[in-house]
Amino acid sequence: MGYIAHSCPLEDGEEVFVEAGKTCRCGWLAVWGEAEEGAVDQIKELMDRLEFTTLAEACRIASERSGRPVASSTVSQACREGRIPALAVGRTWLVRPQAIMGRLGLYGKRGRPPISLFERARARVNGSEDLLEYGDVILYDWAEGDEHWEWVLSADEGEILEWARRVDAESV
Ligand SMILES: [Zn+2]
Repeated sequence: MGYIAHSCPLEDGEEVFVEAGKTCRCGWLAVWGEAEEGAVDQIKELMDRLEFTTLAEACRIASERSGRPVASSTVSQACREGRIPALAVGRTWLVRPQAIMGRLGLYGKRGRPPISLFERARARVNGSEDLLEYGDVILYDWAEGDEHWEWVLSADEGEILEWARRVDAESV
């Protein structure tokens, strides 16, 4: 405890004393050391508790827990597009394994999961060498969701291939 000196703009820069941990009426937070250091410590603690970790580590944990491979490229793209909640710190993404599992539908190891549209779409892609060549594009976690899988299931193979080749060429 104690009071910390502060040149308050509301007092024409006069030095006032604010109790540690409290906020001055100008909004200044009285903390020892730099305010950012205190904030960083609190955020670190919170992130540890919520299990935020680097993208690569989060993918590793998510695939270990679900028993299914989790591609970090899929996850990083989903993070960039805001489809998986994540924090960007510089160039590093911090993500929760739980969030990845929830978003990619990796829960439900207990019991037999229902065969989703995605699984059926994947089966179609796996059954065709031509489609499989563009498997990454076709089976990407597109924002359209079920609408996309229904299309993959119902469209002509030629139509899907044409689309996949175009997307593939544009993404280079
Ligand atoms: Zn003040």
